[in-house]
Amino acid sequence: MDTELAWGAGTERKRRHLFEDEHAGREAIEFILETLNRYDVPATWGIVGHLLLDECTPDSHHETERTRLVDPHSNARESPNYYMPEIVEMIDGSETGHEIAGHSFSHARFGELDRNTAAAEIDEMCEVFDSHGVELSSFIHPYISIDHCDILAEHGFTAYSLGVEESAETIKSGLFPFLTGNTRFWGAPPVTPDNDRHGLTVIPRSRQLSDERWGFLNPRRIRNTIDRGGDGVVHLTAHPHNLLYDPHLKRTFPRIVEEISRRRDAGEISVATFRELASQFR
Ligand SMILES: [Zn+2]
Ligand SMILES: [Zn+2]
Repeated sequence: MDTELAWGAGTERKRRHLFEDEHAGREAIEFILETLNRYDVPATWGIVGHLLLDECTPDSHHETERTRLVDPHSNARESPNYYMPEIVEMIDGSETGHEIAGHSFSHARFGELDRNTAAAEIDEMCEVFDSHGVELSSFIHPYISIDHCDILAEHGFTAYSLGVEESAETIKSGLFPFLTGNTRFWGAPPVTPDNDRHGLTVIPRSRQLSDERWGFLNPRRIRNTIDRGGDGVVHLTAHPHNLLYDPHLKRTFPRIVEEISRRRDAGEISVATFRELASQFR
């Protein structure tokens, strides 16, 4: 779950939905959490570090293009889409075993950062999570702009994610080129995690659950995906805010989670967070 709220660049549509009702982002997070907890299905929540602050001023932290562009230098009461410190307790407060992962400090595009800024993004992210009692071990690069992974390794991270496109390239050379060539419309092809040269486990994405206006996502396809998965990993990903403007996804999401829990309870699959998966691949 890539959780950035207003820190993502976003489309006009996303911004409209987030800002028409300032609490809609939080409600989307609660809806997803309640659904996952109801079926005891843990997820990996990649959270932007700045969301954990109560407030900030221009001197509170380092600057990136993102902070210069969007930081309101305000507080949680006035700008709930930029500050949501209670999110840690919301996620950690259940028995479901969710993992909290880092999604940078300010949702900066890592491929465009110099080394010092990337280090500051990772340092300040780790610090703010640490102050909430969370030790991070997994990372999701904003925009899946993968870079500076050596700094993640220095900080003891063990896993990060690849985007669907990169994953599709890997998969095209695999067993199901016809079925999986277009991940956007055809279910969610299984992927194979691997270790990079810094020793971090790289977990490709099977499918982004978003922009489902045409209804291509349905539980039957997810069932087929699981059937086809073999020993592979099916990695589904979404943003909480996707549910705000996608009624189809909002209806389908609980059915997918129910299907995952049913298969897990029947012993057909296991469900793992990034951290758990990385420990199996290292
Ligand atoms: Zn700030
Ligand atoms: Zn993001």
